Amino acid sequence: MGRHSFSSSRREQLLQEIAKERFDVVVIGGGITGAGILLDAAVRGMKAVLFDMQDFAAGTSSRSTKLVHGGLRYLKQLEFGMVAEVGKERAIVYENGPHVTTPEWMMLPCYKGGTFGMISTSLGLRVYDFLAGVKVSERRSMLKANETLMKEPLLKSEGLLGSGYYVEYRTDDARLTIEVLKEAVSRGAAAINYAEVIGFTCENGKVVAATVQDKVSGKNYEVAASKLVNATGPWVDGLREMDRSKRGKVLQLTKGVHLVIDGRRMPLRQAVYFDTPDGRMMFAVPREGKTYVGTTDTVYKDDPAHPAVSVSDQQYIIDAINGMFPGVAITANDIESSWAGVRPLIYEEGKSPSEISRKDEVWESPSGLITIAGGKLTGYRKMAETVVDRVAARLREEKALEFANCSTKRLPISGGSVGGSAGFTDYVANQTLEGVRRGLPGDLAEAWVLKYGSNVGRLFELAEEAVSEHHPSELPLEVVVPLKYAMIEEMAATPVDFFHRRTGALLFNIAWVREWKVRVSQYMASVLGWTEQQKRQYDEELDLMLQAAPGQETLQ
Ligand code: FAD
Repeated sequence: MGRHSFSSSRREQLLQEIAKERFDVVVIGGGITGAGILLDAAVRGMKAVLFDMQDFAAGTSSRSTKLVHGGLRYLKQLEFGMVAEVGKERAIVYENGPHVTTPEWMMLPCYKGGTFGMISTSLGLRVYDFLAGVKVSERRSMLKANETLMKEPLLKSEGLLGSGYYVEYRTDDARLTIEVLKEAVSRGAAAINYAEVIGFTCENGKVVAATVQDKVSGKNYEVAASKLVNATGPWVDGLREMDRSKRGKVLQLTKGVHLVIDGRRMPLRQAVYFDTPDGRMMFAVPREGKTYVGTTDTVYKDDPAHPAVSVSDQQYIIDAINGMFPGVAITANDIESSWAGVRPLIYEEGKSPSEISRKDEVWESPSGLITIAGGKLTGYRKMAETVVDRVAARLREEKALEFANCSTKRLPISGGSVGGSAGFTDYVANQTLEGVRRGLPGDLAEAWVLKYGSNVGRLFELAEEAVSEHHPSELPLEVVVPLKYAMIEEMAATPVDFFHRRTGALLFNIAWVREWKVRVSQYMASVLGWTEQQKRQYDEELDLMLQAAPGQETLQ
């Protein structure tokens, strides 16, 4: 199969082409769940297309704690099966994309009278190592109180007994999603953002096509498929209503908030997983000169597209920070940016948000619509395998079509062909030298290799093009090259797509966004031919996010 375009300037043409084709599978939802399904389907040889009504990853998949983790706390709930499965997936996600996933040593402090004693922590972490099949170099150790404070001096020292020390993995959830999508597209699948599935067409009671509305042009398209998969995360029940199959189990949405604080105000050296006064768990993670802390977990009943950080969410996290790191005395004025996400959990009678299981389930409706509900970022590949196995079985029964078995376990995602995790350090060094050889400053070349992995060659090409252009852009290379790359190779269609989900700058480098937002918007408007009204709308969208960042005034 040929490669479809993944360029934002060819979106509409691509939609027109797609409407003329017939697909083995249409995937609805471009978060990590849908992206994983698209890749698995494409690798097995299925003709597959994915639609997202917003930008890719604009739902929960850009709003998580950004950890690829086994879910240590689920041991307390005795969910051994899930810890074992998700725990093992951590290493696979890392191996297949070392440029978007990094091992992070995590500290779990134990206090007199706290939830975790030294013995139970030591045992729990040992069980975790065993269940998740953790490699020897990453197995847990136990630290004494003085060793703990040496590694993280900001921790409360009163009553400190020591800590458990173990490895989790840090990721960029939105970039992980986009790299999975890019790999799927390079293998013949198609993916379109700002394309909402607004209806289904049925024949003999079976769904045979989706009506897709292009949110940019307003035009509708009919896309025919043998199987449709509902991977819309917090929206799955809405799609089931459209399919008239919302019966039995339903979702329970819960909101989780994170706050970002400048590293100079909270100079955390070390990621910490700590318990809150009300018996929950929270992460504090240092990243790119900032520290982010979260999360809350409260029942959510409003629009999943716009979860907001409330004053009480913010205060809850600030209190937890000041309780565990008493010297920092954080106030609302220290919050640089924040984000809120909605967990698509499967409702369980009588359980509080934190007690509800994070497991995933596949439901199939009488119309043939396959829905995947629940789950975690970390388990996306395995969830995709389960769903695509089901799709393949139905295509075999109903259409006598045969497809290969799942083979994503050892498949690098886009940018991940760097010689595995073991080869990544050398890869970064060599490609940085290559960048310097091509005239780039070493730190910029290195930053690009770290972020884009084995796709960095394309950024080097774009840099050379940018330098030799007759009318060079007014933007410096560090901005224009990632911007062009995001537009041509990652379907970024608006400034928020670029500043939030392609670069993460809206969360971790807000000064950079403020510096370049006007010229980035002008550049995108000229390349994509926006109308005045579109430009105003996209600029307002970005300004709203910038205000909401430190935004005490805009909190509800
Ligand atoms: P989403 O990412 O929400 O994607 C669904 C997509 O469907 C959306 O982009 C939406 O626009 C689209 N859509 C909806 N309706 C339509 C339609 N009609 N047509 C077209 N498209 C449509 N997991 C971890 O493993 N590690 C963590 O550290 C972690 N932390 C978390 C912290 C918080 C606060 C939250 C909320 C979750 C966390 N999770 C974590 C869980 C993880 O983020 C989610 O399980 C995962 O992102 C869900 O992905 P998804 O693709 O199912 O849903």
